[in-house]
Amino acid sequence: MNKIKEITKGKAKSMFTTENSEHLIMHFSDDTSAFDGKKREALLGKGAVNNQFNAFIMKHLSENGIDTHLVDVIDSTDSVVYKLDMFPIECVIRNRASGSICRRLGTKDGLVFEDPLFEFFLKDDELGDPLINDEHILSFGWADQNQISEMKKQTYKVNEILSKLFLDSGLILVDFKVEFGIFKNKILLADEFTPDGCRLWDSETMKKMDKDRFRQGLGDVVESYHQVADRLGMNIET
Ligand code: C5P
Repeated sequence: MNKIKEITKGKAKSMFTTENSEHLIMHFSDDTSAFDGKKREALLGKGAVNNQFNAFIMKHLSENGIDTHLVDVIDSTDSVVYKLDMFPIECVIRNRASGSICRRLGTKDGLVFEDPLFEFFLKDDELGDPLINDEHILSFGWADQNQISEMKKQTYKVNEILSKLFLDSGLILVDFKVEFGIFKNKILLADEFTPDGCRLWDSETMKKMDKDRFRQGLGDVVESYHQVADRLGMNIET
């Protein structure tokens, strides 16, 4: 399978058309950005670890009943995925407070929520990905009620499956963001699940093992992603 045309270039990934109109190639680059693109850096080897990390997680989710867009991994940094109609929405679950919720609501970092907290955000860089609710989604026609319910249900299920997977490896899944799209009338988990889009803390030391290391200038970003991958038993090809 070959890359024909780059159709989207995100901050850390690019999507390419292929000979098959139902398939895209998702390329993970080393580029890393935070604070709406204000902090940017290329971190050697991040694309490779994220591509393979994502594939491992997507396969695990699929084995546990979540339908995903992943078709196949084709090399260290690239995977084939189904071409979806994406919802312009981010689904976030928080098991503990960290990041934007602490800034928005003055919550103490690390506060454990009795039940996982679900939030929707609009995918819009210029607006800084604002927090939205079901009513906004319906009023603006970004998704219908059934699709909203399905995205929430799937996100909670992802949280259950992955919280267990990570905890078994000594890691707390603090929060994460996922995205969904439609392929042939079916809602599939799309985009990526990597340490770029979630918070993972060592369950004993509470050490941050995710993209907060980049956001907060803590160093050893890619090394930490590899440590998480090792703990989960992944064999990352560099
Ligand atoms: O920034 P905030 O605390 O709202 O992020 C919640 C979770 O969603 C974090 O794990 C963060 O890495 C992820 N996220 C993301 N992409 C965004 C916004 C948040 O992956 N555009």
